[in-house]
Amino acid sequence: MSEKPRIGIYICHCGLNIAGTVDVEELARYAASLPDVIVARDYVFMCSEPGQNLIKEDIKEKELNRIVIAACSPSMHEQTFRSVLESAGLNKYLLEMANIREHCSWIHSDRRKATEKAKEIVRMAASKARYLEPIEEKTFPTTRNVMILGGGVAGMRAAIELAEYGFEVYLVERKPILGGKSAVIGYISPGIRGKEIVQKMFERIRGNPRIHVFTQAELIELKGFAGNFTGKLRIHPKHVNERCNECGECEDACPIEISNEYDFSLSRRKAIYKPFPGSYPEGYIIDDRVCVKCGECVRACRRKAIDLDGEEKLIEIKFGALIIAVGYDPYRPSKGEFGYGLSDSVLTLFQLERLLDEDGPTRGEPIVRGKIPETIAFVQCVGSRSTTPSSRPYCSRMCCTSALTNAIRLKEKHPEIEIFFIYRDIMTYGSDEGLYEEAGKRMIKFIKYEGEPPQVQITPEGVFIEVTDYLLQESIRIPVDAVILSTGMIPPRDLGDVIAVTRATCGEEGFLREAHIKLAPVESPTRGIYIAGSVSGPKNIRESIISGSAAAAKAMALISRGEVVAEPMIAKVDEERCSGCGICISACPYNAISIEEKEGDRLARVEDALCMGCGTCASACPSGAMQQLGFKDIQIRAQISALSEVEGK
Ligand SMILES: Cc1cc2nc3c(=O)[nH]c(=O)nc-3n(C[C@H](O)[C@H](O)[C@H](O)COP(=O)(O)OP(=O)(O)OC[C@H]3O[C@@H](n4cnc5c(N)ncnc54)[C@H](O)[C@@H]3O)c2cc1C
Ligand code: SF4
Repeated sequence: MSEKPRIGIYICHCGLNIAGTVDVEELARYAASLPDVIVARDYVFMCSEPGQNLIKEDIKEKELNRIVIAACSPSMHEQTFRSVLESAGLNKYLLEMANIREHCSWIHSDRRKATEKAKEIVRMAASKARYLEPIEEKTFPTTRNVMILGGGVAGMRAAIELAEYGFEVYLVERKPILGGKSAVIGYISPGIRGKEIVQKMFERIRGNPRIHVFTQAELIELKGFAGNFTGKLRIHPKHVNERCNECGECEDACPIEISNEYDFSLSRRKAIYKPFPGSYPEGYIIDDRVCVKCGECVRACRRKAIDLDGEEKLIEIKFGALIIAVGYDPYRPSKGEFGYGLSDSVLTLFQLERLLDEDGPTRGEPIVRGKIPETIAFVQCVGSRSTTPSSRPYCSRMCCTSALTNAIRLKEKHPEIEIFFIYRDIMTYGSDEGLYEEAGKRMIKFIKYEGEPPQVQITPEGVFIEVTDYLLQESIRIPVDAVILSTGMIPPRDLGDVIAVTRATCGEEGFLREAHIKLAPVESPTRGIYIAGSVSGPKNIRESIISGSAAAAKAMALISRGEVVAEPMIAKVDEERCSGCGICISACPYNAISIEEKEGDRLARVEDALCMGCGTCASACPSGAMQQLGFKDIQIRAQISALSEVEGK
C-alpha cells in the first residue's frame, strides 16, 4: 500500500479485566507517541456500541487507514472490529489486534511490569499495522446438498433436520444398518429402550425422499472446498435383492457361524444374516468378510434373491457441506483386565445391556452361566480415568448413568439380587442424579475406593472382588456370581481412515477436535466440515442428538446463502521469486497448491478456494516466494523488530 500509514490505536479497559492490572491511560499516552500514530484512546469497553462509534468517527474525521485494537484475544472480537472498519468504509483487513488481556493482564499481577509488557505488545502491533494491506474477499457458488458420515443418532438427527428443511442429504453408514450403538443399548433410562429412539428416527428417514441412505459404504476420497465438495463412495454389495421375503431358509442353510457383534459376542450368527428385529434398512445381507461362497444359500433361496457375484460400486457425489458423525467404540478390556476373558461371569456393560434387552440373546433375562446370579458387582471406570495402564485419562460420562440404569432394571426384575456398585466417584450429572438416589432406595450397596483399583479374582471356588473400602478403611473380599465392567467410550479404532480422507484433526484424547471447544463446537478447523455426536468426545444420546441438530444448522447456514466467501488470508505466490521447487506442495495439508508452466517457467499456483490460510507453505518456501496475506514476511519482521526496539529509539 503506497499511502502513508495513519494509525489509530484503541485501548480497551475490559472493565477491570485489563485496567485492573495495566495502567491504560499511560499505555494510551505511550501509544500516541509511536510512529505514524494519529490518535490513541482508551475506553472502558471498546466492543460496546459507544466504543465502536468512537473508532468509526475517528476513521472518518482523522482519515485513519490502519487500526490497532489493544484488547482481548482476536478469537473473541476480531470479527466485531472488522465490521467496525467495514462500516466506516475501510477495508476490514487493515486491522491489527494486540492481545493485552489473555497475554498480559490476566497472567500478571505486577502493575508496573504488566504496563511495560502491554507497551511492547502495542508497539509490535502498531509496527505490523504500518505494513498491512487491504485484502479482497472472493465468493463461490455453493451446492445445496450435505453428506453425513455415520448413521448413529447424531448422523440420523442431522439428516432429518436437513431434509425436513428441504436439503438433499446423503447419509453414509459403514455398517449394513443405521442406528449405531444406541440401537443395541437395552434401556437408556428407566422405561425407555435405545431401540425405540432409533426406530422413531428410522420412520422419519424412511418417509423422507430427500434422505439418500448408503449402507455398507465409505467415503474414500474428498476433493473441493466449503460449498463445493466432491466425494467418492465405495459401496459394498449386499448380495441379497428386493425379491427376498425374509423366509430365513438361506440362514438355516449357511454353514458359516461366527459370534454376533450386535450382541457383543453373547450369541452366534451366520454369514448370511439379519442384524436384529426392527433394524433398518431391513432384510438379509451377506457378510463378505466371512462368506466362503459355497452357494448353499443360493440353492436354498426359492425366490432367486441372492447373487454372490455382486461387486462393490464406486460413485461420486457433489455436496456443499460434510458432517462427520462416526461415533465412538466401546472400550474393550484386555484379557485378564478385571478378570475379563478369564471367566464367563465377567461381562462388559454393553453385554449386560444385551442380556436385559427383550430382543437380546436371553430375551431380557440376566442369565449368566446358565442362571440368574444371586450377587452382581459393577466395577466402574473400566478403561476410563486411568484405572489401568491401557485405559484413558478422561471420564466417559455415560457409564455411571448406564450402569445405574441397568442395576435398577435388575432390581426391578429380580429384587432379590444383591448388587454392589464399586466406584471412585459417581458421575450422574444433571437429572440422572435421580438414578443414584433411586439405586440407594433399592438397597444397591455402594463401595467407594481410592487409589488401588479393585481386584477381580477368578478361583476354583468362584469369583471374588477384593477392594479397600474407603469409608471403612479396610479391605473386603466379596464372592459374586457376575461382574459387570463399566467400560467407557474410546475414539473409533479406524478414525485414522476418516482423518486421512477428510483431513479432520484429532485432539489429545484421540477424538475429533472441534475448531474451538467453547466458541465453535461442532465446527471442524476446515470450513464446510462439521462434527456431530460422540466422535468429538463422550456424550449421551441426548447430547449426541443435540450436536447432530447443531451441525445440521451450521451446514444449512453455510449452503443456504447460495454462495460462500472464501478464506481471504490465504497464500499468494510472488512469481518473480518462485523457482517451482514444489516444496510448498508437499507442505500443504489441504492439497491447495499445484505447479504450472507459465512462459517456460515452473511456478507454484495456489487454488484460492482450497487454501485454508494455515501458512505452512509460506514457512516452508526456501525463497520467500510464498507469502501469507495478513502475515507477510515484511509484516512479521516489523513486528519482531519492534520487540527489540528501545523506547525513544
Ligand atoms: C456402555 C455404554 C452404555 C451407554 N448407555 C447409554 C444410555 O443408557 N443412555 C444414553 O443416553 N447413552 C448411552 N451411551 C452413549 C451412547 O451410546 C452414545 O451417546 C450414542 O451412541 C452416540 O451416538 P453417535 O451417533 O455419536 O455414535 P454411534 O452410536 O457410535 O454411531 C456412529 C455410527 O457411525 C458409523 N461409522 C463409523 N465409522 C464410519 C465411517 N468411516 N463411515 C461411515 N459410518 C461410520 C458407525 O457404524 C455407527 O453406526 C452409552 C455408552 C456406553 C459406552
Ligand atoms: S461415567 Fe462413571 S464409570 Fe464412567 S468413567 Fe466417568 S466416573 Fe467412571
